[in-house]
Amino acid sequence: MTQTDTDTSQDAAGTSPLAFTVDPDVARRTDEERAQILGAPGFGKHFTDHMVTATWTLDRGWHDAGVRAFGPITLSPAAAVLHYAQEVFEGLKAYRHDDGSVWSFRPEANAARFARSARRLALPQLPEADFLGSLEALVRADVDWVPSGGEASLYLRPFMFASEEFLGVRPAHTVTYCLIASPAGSYFPGGVRPVSIWLTTDYTRAAPGGTGEAKCGGNYAASLAAQQEAIGHGCDQVCFVDATEHRWVEELGGMNLYFVHADGRLVTPSLTGTILEGVTRSSILTLAKELGHEVEERKVSVEEWRDGVASGDITEVLACGTAAVVTPLGRLAWDGGEVVMGEEPGETTMRIRSRLLDIQYGREADEHGWLRRLA
Ligand SMILES: *Cc1c(COP(=O)(O)O)cnc(C)c1O
Repeated sequence: MTQTDTDTSQDAAGTSPLAFTVDPDVARRTDEERAQILGAPGFGKHFTDHMVTATWTLDRGWHDAGVRAFGPITLSPAAAVLHYAQEVFEGLKAYRHDDGSVWSFRPEANAARFARSARRLALPQLPEADFLGSLEALVRADVDWVPSGGEASLYLRPFMFASEEFLGVRPAHTVTYCLIASPAGSYFPGGVRPVSIWLTTDYTRAAPGGTGEAKCGGNYAASLAAQQEAIGHGCDQVCFVDATEHRWVEELGGMNLYFVHADGRLVTPSLTGTILEGVTRSSILTLAKELGHEVEERKVSVEEWRDGVASGDITEVLACGTAAVVTPLGRLAWDGGEVVMGEEPGETTMRIRSRLLDIQYGREADEHGWLRRLA
């Protein structure tokens, strides 16, 4: 098998499926320590006892997979990722059902997107079976860390980065895959509240031909100054428009958008190559139709948003993503004005939100085969 510097998309032989062997010597926190964390987990602050790692090299492909102690990774200061940001990630959740079983939601879609992101960043692809195998191995090792009740979950963060010690600019010949898990409480512990949005005209998130469709750390690094700008204007989050005409609504820093019209239609910006295709977005496309809504994927201009809210044609706007599920947007502000969608969460937003959560938590039949058991 031949492999060139610019073609790391091919899997070198390696072993697949990988065996994620659990290190039996990992120290576990006590039941009391764990219970204390699970009592108020917050988001992304606490991590389970284990993590998964695997290595890819140009000559051996994927190998050395295992479930090990969660802890610092040793990296050369010359590791390529620290200089050129060759990195991609995913985000999904493990949900505990009432009978104690633990499930993930459409993890195959995350596996496929992880592979697409990897291809765009010239990283090797992790086969779907290995992506799913790593989720299962980690959740089984740390199953006691999956919270129950409310909207709590175990957030799973798979990621892959260029770990080769080399400062030359080319796709790395050594890459590390890692999966960590973090217990997460309800995103809205005090009940769902609409958030406010700043429409930035100074910054864009993604340009045609760029990395907007890939879930990579670099996109987030580039969004932080815009997010600071939003906070500076008294808003919770930032909304980006297209980089060419500065006119078409794209998405928030990490969530996709839906507009609810007075006649019941739902409209979401079409995937033009600069928007991240969310699993939540895609699931809402299906669920909204089943709830009797017409759904359109098309371009939405900033004027349509402002004027639509002002005239009453747009009654609700919602943001969606794995972490916050579905979030109502209460106010849109920009340099020179603002419109208010609503002080309270809209009815359609909340109906879609409940439908999605009911499926994820096993309270409603999984008619689409979206759930996959992990433990
Ligand atoms: C992850 C992400 C989303 C939401 O995707 P989900 O699969 O629904 O979690 C939306 N936009 C960006 C930029 C993202 O990184």
